[in-house]
Amino acid sequence: SKNSESLRESLNQYSSVKKVIAVVSGKGGVGKSLVTSTLAVTFNRLGKKTAILDADITGPSIPKAFGINERAKGNEYGIIPVTTETGIDLMSVNLLLENPTDPVVWRAPVITGTVKQFWRDVIWENEDYMFVDMPPGTGDVPLTVFQSLPIDGIIVVASPQELVSMIVEKAVKMANMMNVPILGLVENMSYFVCPDCGKKHNIFGESHIDEIAERYNTKVLAKLPIDSDLAKCVDDGRVELFEGNYLDDAAQEIEKALA
Ligand code: ADP
Repeated sequence: SKNSESLRESLNQYSSVKKVIAVVSGKGGVGKSLVTSTLAVTFNRLGKKTAILDADITGPSIPKAFGINERAKGNEYGIIPVTTETGIDLMSVNLLLENPTDPVVWRAPVITGTVKQFWRDVIWENEDYMFVDMPPGTGDVPLTVFQSLPIDGIIVVASPQELVSMIVEKAVKMANMMNVPILGLVENMSYFVCPDCGKKHNIFGESHIDEIAERYNTKVLAKLPIDSDLAKCVDDGRVELFEGNYLDDAAQEIEKALA
């Protein structure tokens, strides 16, 4: 888009990022960060050089998912992202704070300024795909963050509950307002497979995601189950060791859409 091009022009000369994908949600706690990190792991496994920009400044959870406790260092050209065990480059406010458990209580302009800095002052090198873990919701903060990054495509994460409450529709409409293509929707916590009987249960009721995708002329990229193994990997900082491949098909769709 035009916006994306002009933003790219102001890009740090030491950085290079080919495709920027924003992961958004209508509200917090739906698994946006889990989906962001799992997507990054999936693309990295496909041999793409992958980065994550953690723009969820007040609730940063990306470093924890990758078991990163160190702080980012800088050199004369900028801030050097921290690289995970399998080679994913990360930047998050948690990598800069003296004490990562300190709450970030900044107002919107400071948050946006920080995200801009994560783009401009961080040395991103030859990244094929950058995933941006966006601030949740459809308020001032996600909106201004949106406008400050050269986003090529948007993925909307939602849980089945939101799909009946119009929260996801607000997120889809916000994405449409930005004039950036919506690559598709991911329904998280879509179902649960009983480990004993193998039966699939729709814990949060019948899914409506297909209807919503159709209504907004987009597609469903994936339906992720409630998976305690995945949650454990993410919560213990071992997301890179998760063996599932829930997002493999989605990755193909995303690559195709952005080619
Ligand atoms: P958000 O980024 O939207 O606030 P998170 O990704 O931090 O949400 O997820 C919130 C919590 O729910 C985390 O503890 C995460 O491990 C858990 N969770 C998210 N998705 C799933 C899932 N599909 N199965 C099991 N637990 C999940």
